[in-house]
Amino acid sequence: MSDPHVHVGRDVVHGDAAARNLVASTFGLVGELPSTLTTGCGSTVPYVMTSPRPETVTCLPCRDYTRAQRLRFATARHRNLADRFGGLT
Ligand SMILES: [Zn+2]
Repeated sequence: MSDPHVHVGRDVVHGDAAARNLVASTFGLVGELPSTLTTGCGSTVPYVMTSPRPETVTCLPCRDYTRAQRLRFATARHRNLADRFGGLT
């Protein structure tokens, strides 16, 4: 393994990896985790070289990817809230 960086999985915003981690740590289902993951920078890396926590991601393209995805997610969520409040008046 020549890549020393910690990446982020493409599904980071939806929390799939975090949910799997929770399930795995609760029920010991580590065997069901994927062995590799497609990352925000487009690489495929071993699952253990990814993290759902932005502060531990060391791959710069992945950090940019996470920032952009979170911003997009937050914008969509706020727009949805605004639409729902708008529908009440
Ligand atoms: Zn990366």
